[in-house]
Amino acid sequence: MASANHKRLVIPGPVEVRPEILQAQTEWMIGHRTKAFEELFARLQDKLRRAFFTQSRVFVHGSSGTGMWEGASRNCIRDGKKALHLVGGSFSERWAEISQLNGKQIDVINVEWGQPHRPEMVAEALKKETYDAVCVVHNETSTGVTNPIKDIAAVVRPYEDTLLLVDSVSGFLGAELRVDEWGLDMALTSSQKAFALPPGLAFAAISDRVLERAKQVSNRGYYFDFVEIEASLKKNNTPATPPVSLMFAADKQLDDVMAETVEKRWARHLQMREMTTTWAEAREFGVFAAKGYWSPTITCVANGRNINVDDMAKFMGGKGFSMDKGYGKIKGKTFRIAHMGDMQPTELETILAGLDEFIGQ
Ligand SMILES: *Cc1c(COP(=O)(O)O)cnc(C)c1O
Repeated sequence: MASANHKRLVIPGPVEVRPEILQAQTEWMIGHRTKAFEELFARLQDKLRRAFFTQSRVFVHGSSGTGMWEGASRNCIRDGKKALHLVGGSFSERWAEISQLNGKQIDVINVEWGQPHRPEMVAEALKKETYDAVCVVHNETSTGVTNPIKDIAAVVRPYEDTLLLVDSVSGFLGAELRVDEWGLDMALTSSQKAFALPPGLAFAAISDRVLERAKQVSNRGYYFDFVEIEASLKKNNTPATPPVSLMFAADKQLDDVMAETVEKRWARHLQMREMTTTWAEAREFGVFAAKGYWSPTITCVANGRNINVDDMAKFMGGKGFSMDKGYGKIKGKTFRIAHMGDMQPTELETILAGLDEFIGQ
């Protein structure tokens, strides 16, 4: 299949996709206004609700996660109202920028990169100002911090007009996320991170409150109009032509996720976090993220040994692995090991052994 010189992806997205999943995309094409498509959509809907732990609905949209950010900002923040963005890394920073580029007013709680957002910070901000939405990144992929979403939600929930919008692009199906139980209004993700699918699909669990809000917002545009997407979803369909092949792959992947069980998948990721952070500390690299908030899906290794990350990536490339060299303003000072998706602890062992060989341990 395909080219012979494949390097396994250890970068934080796109991640390695199993051959069976790639193969599922070669199913014969079907029209999206057919019974067969409606059945595919309904199957996905059922499994996605279980994966997000929600009874409401999960949008399936042909775009990357960035598109869903734009949808969230456009549909959930009214004219003359504000959103509160929690910013602590490249991705949370970009979402805040996207709200502004869509003409929305925002306030920002900035934390130093590597630090989490604590619920007390959010509580304080909500006492001072009224917000249409709080926007938070579950798993900040640039720094390897997982935010305490459940505790932040507990603070936001008493404010009836404030929606809680969560980016779980690199968390979903790797880090614990319970949409209904925690009271999240929106949890968005894309296909190519911990979901371990090829890029091109975005997913979002959407509460009734989000849809009520969307109806009160003018200029929602069309491609990410949540009211329009919901009207189609009720008919097991999408407003525009979706990436059908990717949906075949998602259908297969969700069967495999359900067979493993979501809880065991979370546990496997915690095990891989433990392996990676233990390794980084034992080799005196260090872990960039604040202790207690280490991500189950990605470890941002502090470059305490000051290795040349380009040489490291070249060395690991020779062993058949494609490595990350850090992201944004901490590139080189850190490098990230993605342990997400369908990676197994045995493969991670091989990767860490390769890194040991590089540093001469
Ligand atoms: C990758 C990523 C995004 C952007 O998603 P795309 O699918 O690349 O558009 C957003 N948020 C987080 C936390 C990410 O890791």
